[in-house]
Amino acid sequence: MKGAANLKKCGSVLVTGANRGLGLQLVDSLANGGFSPGKIIATTRDPASALKLQELAERHCNIHITSLDVVSHESIQKCVEEVGQLVQEEGLNCLINNAAINVEANFHTVTPETMIKNYHTNAVAPLMITQAFLPLLKNAASRSECGTMTMGIHRAAVINVSSRLGSIELNWGEKANGFKWYPYRISKCALNMVSRCMARELEPDGILCLAVHPGWVRTDMGGPQAPLSPEESVSSLLSVIGGLSKKDHGSFLNYKGEPLPW
Ligand code: NAP
Repeated sequence: MKGAANLKKCGSVLVTGANRGLGLQLVDSLANGGFSPGKIIATTRDPASALKLQELAERHCNIHITSLDVVSHESIQKCVEEVGQLVQEEGLNCLINNAAINVEANFHTVTPETMIKNYHTNAVAPLMITQAFLPLLKNAASRSECGTMTMGIHRAAVINVSSRLGSIELNWGEKANGFKWYPYRISKCALNMVSRCMARELEPDGILCLAVHPGWVRTDMGGPQAPLSPEESVSSLLSVIGGLSKKDHGSFLNYKGEPLPW
């Protein structure tokens, strides 16, 4: 957890899809890890039913639950307004685009609807959310006390939670696995390109951007046969996120911090 200690230097972290799975674990570990950032903004499309998140927020006053449906323009705008009021001129240091869906479909069952639904949530939404939060990210980046040449979560960063299933190179030969989920794989591949495009776009403002693969994890999406627990994945992932620097900008890393092929 060496890098994770740096999260203490981070004023604010926002996590999408924070009511269950890896999003909830990210909030839990950020709050309980002994390296809690100033403000943890946990977003969910239905705060009233997010009971585990509410329990966490009752125990940690730096957790702020905010409503966000990542595919709704109106919801994104409202969330930006609320977060803006919360962070004020300090801006938002770290945006973690975690929310995603996997509408399972193979070559024979895939439809335009399943493709578009996955594409919207997994690739378009992280782009539109980052676009909407840009002024707050810029505010945070411009206030860095470590100089304008540095990059990292102490300054401003966008972390897109992608998947190795989105890698074109890893979907070939012996490296390929049996998951023939067309909508999910293609949407995560698109998210990888979104990450790379945004990395180029955000670089002049000193905002770090990358894609990460959390490993195969036992969540509703990962299923019970996955080798990693949410705690194991997130503990390693936070160590990577905390240690990010300019050399990681525009990269695709796994939860151990190892580069993955696009
Ligand atoms: P999960 O258990 O299925 O949780 C998905 C989260 O996304 C839920 O909080 C869900 O909220 C939220 N979400 C979906 N659509 C949303 C929307 N329109 N607006 C707001 N929130 C929405 O998945 P997970 O395993 O935690 O996955 C987290 C991230 O890791 C995803 O990006 C996933 O692709 C990636 N990943 C996971 C694995 C794995 O093995 N688990 C592997 C590689 C990558 P609701 O409860 O409201 O539906």
